[in-house]
Amino acid sequence: MGVSKGDVDFLRLKKDICKKLGVQPPTNPDLREVYEKMVARGEIKRSMELEKALFSKRVRTESGVAVVAVLTKSYPCPGKCIYCPTEKDMPKSYLSNEPAVMRAIAAKFNPYRQVQNRLRALELNGHKVEKVELIVMGGTFSCLPKKYQQKFITECFRACNEYGKHESRVMNHELKKRQDDLFKEQKRNEKAKCRIIGLTLETRPDYIDAEEIVSFRKLGCTRVELGVQSIFDDVLKLNKRGHNIARTIEATKLLKDAGFKINYHIMPGLPGSNLKRDYKMFKRLFSEPAFQPDMLKIYPTVVIRNTKLYSMWKKGEYKALGDEEFEKFILRIKKNIIPPVVRIARLVRDVPGTSIEAGPNVSNLRQLIEKESVCRCIRCREVRSEYVPDEEIILDRINYAASGGQEIFLQFVSPDKKKLFALLRLRIVGVQDHGPALAQPLRPNEYVGTPPLSTGEGVLKNAALVREVHTYGKLTSIDKKNKNSPQHIGLGKKLLLEAERIAREEFGLKKIAVISGVGVRGYYRKAGYKLKDSYMVKVI
Ligand code: SF4
Ligand SMILES: [Zn+2]
Repeated sequence: MGVSKGDVDFLRLKKDICKKLGVQPPTNPDLREVYEKMVARGEIKRSMELEKALFSKRVRTESGVAVVAVLTKSYPCPGKCIYCPTEKDMPKSYLSNEPAVMRAIAAKFNPYRQVQNRLRALELNGHKVEKVELIVMGGTFSCLPKKYQQKFITECFRACNEYGKHESRVMNHELKKRQDDLFKEQKRNEKAKCRIIGLTLETRPDYIDAEEIVSFRKLGCTRVELGVQSIFDDVLKLNKRGHNIARTIEATKLLKDAGFKINYHIMPGLPGSNLKRDYKMFKRLFSEPAFQPDMLKIYPTVVIRNTKLYSMWKKGEYKALGDEEFEKFILRIKKNIIPPVVRIARLVRDVPGTSIEAGPNVSNLRQLIEKESVCRCIRCREVRSEYVPDEEIILDRINYAASGGQEIFLQFVSPDKKKLFALLRLRIVGVQDHGPALAQPLRPNEYVGTPPLSTGEGVLKNAALVREVHTYGKLTSIDKKNKNSPQHIGLGKKLLLEAERIAREEFGLKKIAVISGVGVRGYYRKAGYKLKDSYMVKVI
């Protein structure tokens, strides 16, 4: 069985694999789900050959990084959201037949195994895995015991650090037997083959406070996914979210002032709302400075068994959105609302169609609307593999107000701005607002083995903040160049120099701080930055 190159090959291959597995070729969900399920049930053993064929999805590293999503084990969430499914032994809000969840089950939720399995699958498929974007899923991360949080993240770092080395020996280690050594593993990761260049954690707005921000920084987090869902208090109340919109606004500011990137989860079609109100919500998200998320995950409300929403729907108290009206809605907001500084990371959640009783059931929405879609968002403009060596690239700048600060979005684009090569997010916060996020002392013994973050004035005082630097195009190995990719041709460095110039000349600031992924610290060191309280800082 050969490795598929094109779609036709892949389909043929699928049939082949199905024959081997003795199952009918599924159209949706993906065949990989079937494979993971069978491995989880112990019906077949992991096979390099099958994985090589099954994981041939070429888009995964074309945004410049290898995305590795892992799940934490099940823990009760204090939320009572009426649409949220509860399944035995599953993290709240996740279903055991979602692809990412099935991978986690197969690895018994062991973070080390989850990371290594994913890296192996990506690499087998010809992807580079030197730059890892780690996404920790599983509901509200902040609700997990601190000790488990630290162990989990430590193991993710260790899995990357040890990837490719004595795998079989360490693969069998159980999580509980490992020492907490977050700081040591992070330090190792600075020079490892697989470096974690970004770490995303999921949480609720009401769990974000100054103390939580310090915790997230210690773990190496650079991006936070916030379960916002709606910006209307009556809708939040009706859906029993347990927080109001004021908390979202506050959390957004706290996170941005600490340099984090923010990804809002938004749910159109919630009880109490309708598409007219939802449209207004999207308009407000990008016209009011209080919101302005950097990324969006749009999850239309779906009715799933074992939820309160299911009984409401059964009694006729809730009417779900239809596929077509949702598709039209998405096309409208993409065309009229989403600004170029935002990335639509996801359009629908990976809930398998069979679990959806009512509501949009279009897992391939992006492909369905691709032809009709007019969108300026980051994702739709990322250069992917279409970089032409020596093509004309211009520097563009967009200023906007957000959460009491000034955001400056710098981007390298083609002259028509349709192709995006690299971007940088610079934030200038009002001086009086600086520092409080890191002014909280950490409770003793919470994070063993890591140096304390400074209290008092805080490292961010009077500093301009760089919240993101990203060069798109094919993932290129660290310290190497690829003539078909804009990575490592100096775009990131030029953006950084421009950000330093703006901070110094336009705002009179003397310091710049980058929220850097652990694995990118070396890059900033070369540019004259020094590690201070988990940020890379330079006097300018
Ligand atoms: S906060 Fe998230 S995980 Fe918790 S109940 Fe609500 S939707 Fe479910
Ligand atoms: Zn888009």
